[in-house]
Amino acid sequence: MMDLKKIEDGFRLVLEGLGENPSREGLQKTPARVAKMYSELLCNIDCEEEEKDILATQFVEKYDEMILLKDIPVTSICEHHFLPFTGVAHLAYVPGNRIVGLSKLARAVDFYARRPQVQERLTTQIAKLINDSLEPQGVGVVLECIHTCMTIRGVKKTGSVMFTSKLIGSFKSNATTRAEFFSMIGKH
Ligand code: ZN
Repeated sequence: MMDLKKIEDGFRLVLEGLGENPSREGLQKTPARVAKMYSELLCNIDCEEEEKDILATQFVEKYDEMILLKDIPVTSICEHHFLPFTGVAHLAYVPGNRIVGLSKLARAVDFYARRPQVQERLTTQIAKLINDSLEPQGVGVVLECIHTCMTIRGVKKTGSVMFTSKLIGSFKSNATTRAEFFSMIGKH
């Protein structure tokens, strides 16, 4: 369970460590605000929902072409620096004999993003969930994110975007499907 009190106490120590006075007026409520912020950004640490339930609402449909949901907003926290990374996800699949509601696909992104992450794992988890739940002919997932741990600190490369992709089934084995996917998301 997420322990907000513990986060508050911990953040008070961070402020002290920074040489700040946690009881000065502007900072008094900051630890509580930070704890609340984490409970929002990382709400799926405690998530009761099970992976298998996210894409459970499916419809039997014979459709042989690619279904693509583009530019789904992604907000997550880099587990190495605890700074946000944000961007978009593109999710595509060629159905087997079942399809799923588009809002559920968007939900799958949040399900994995709302916990400490690395972009590579997030990409793979989303693709695997679609593949395991829908048993499609293939899945393609691409994430494009800006990592604040890279843009505001360290090498300070403002504007650099990290791309990750996970291709499964026909997206991996069939060059035409793969090319169609990258062309549809504007990367070719
Ligand atoms: Zn980082």
